[in-house]
Amino acid sequence: MSLGTLKLFRLALLVVFTQCLLANTVPDFELIKKGQQDGNTLLIIGGIQGDEPGGFMSASLIATHYTITKGSVWVVPNLNFDSIIKRSRGRFGDMNRKFSNLSKKDPDFANVERIKNLIQQDDVKMIINLHDGSGFYRKKYIDNMHSPRRWGQSVIIDQTKIKVEKYNNLLEISNRITKSINKNLIKKEHYYEVRNTKTKDGDIEMEKSLTYFAINRGKSAFANEASKSLPVHQRTYYHLLALEEYMAVMGIEFTRNFKLQSRALKNVIDNDISISFHDNKVQLPLSKIRNIIKYFPINKDGILKFKASNPLMTIVKKDNMYAIHYGNRRVARLIPDYLEIDDINNFVEVKIDGIKKEVKLGTLLSVNKNFYIFPQDDVRVNIIGYSRKNVKNESGISVSKNQIMKKFSLDKRGKIFRVEFYKEKKFAGMLLVHFNKRKQKAIAFNNTNERASLIIK
Ligand SMILES: [Zn+2]
Repeated sequence: MSLGTLKLFRLALLVVFTQCLLANTVPDFELIKKGQQDGNTLLIIGGIQGDEPGGFMSASLIATHYTITKGSVWVVPNLNFDSIIKRSRGRFGDMNRKFSNLSKKDPDFANVERIKNLIQQDDVKMIINLHDGSGFYRKKYIDNMHSPRRWGQSVIIDQTKIKVEKYNNLLEISNRITKSINKNLIKKEHYYEVRNTKTKDGDIEMEKSLTYFAINRGKSAFANEASKSLPVHQRTYYHLLALEEYMAVMGIEFTRNFKLQSRALKNVIDNDISISFHDNKVQLPLSKIRNIIKYFPINKDGILKFKASNPLMTIVKKDNMYAIHYGNRRVARLIPDYLEIDDINNFVEVKIDGIKKEVKLGTLLSVNKNFYIFPQDDVRVNIIGYSRKNVKNESGISVSKNQIMKKFSLDKRGKIFRVEFYKEKKFAGMLLVHFNKRKQKAIAFNNTNERASLIIK
């Protein structure tokens, strides 16, 4: 083995080693603190089981679409994040049975320890664990899906009262929650009931649960169940009704920027999503995005850093593609074009329908008829799906929608196109043009910590 091969061999070993390290690491959950710390915090937990999207969607919406105007709310929207990504109840077993005893070797150990620690923080006075359960819980048997054995559409308590100063009457609070939800039912069948599991009287399974751990640490805790028989946006609707009433119980006040109504909620969940890359010089609206995006510029080191408008989003690299995940959904896959990334002036001059403007790279431009990019020295412009003989730099040309091939659009409706900027061979940023008469509303990025693509086996 020559010195060169030895070096290569060592490098290969190192690569394999780091990949293994990454593969065995379960991603951390997010904690989003909202409002003003006042020692009266509501802790909302979503995604303890990865296949219960009503629960984790509701928690994430509290994080992204609510403003807490009085009081304090902490949100963990994705407790069991890798099970969410894999759409599994629990990749390493049911996490909600890991709160009494857990081996340090369990892959969930770190996340369980971290959430236990949060639960025990002095500020935290109430904890809501969100679930989607099967069927409809009924105190008396009606039929298979409506019976005492089902969990859907219920508020779960472990016992009627606990010995703490505040919020100690669990039964009374849960009755208030169900009463409030039942005033706002979409259908009569959806009504809520309180279910007391009487855990300490010998429910061995429930003794291992998060809420039971919490009440034994002197915290008021409830589980809220929506029904798996309902579509996700309706489950979310019921969870949010419950969470708003829990906030009322604690004197927490809020505003939200959508109507709490089944259809409006579906629109928010499906369309109010976006992701950005390369210091916001590339932004992808994810509503109705194509399943596969080709030639997506990614840094040569293979790590794609991103900012997501929603904490349930992440990027997983697999088979030389970068999959964008949003909760249980895989919304798109990016096929990389590995490039060096360069900086140019962040602002570029454009003409939209004849009006000259200076815009920031990464902007989504609404265009009615045509657009034009002003030429810059050393900067090459590539409009994806547009081509003209012998033209390599597509700045300085007025372009309308019928000159771009629809199959190159970013979205399934064929309206949004990529305009890419290069400095020599290096990628420098992107504009999106949206052929649409109406101006698009920008999607807010509330939790804009930059994160990096993951490798999960
Ligand atoms: Zn559950």
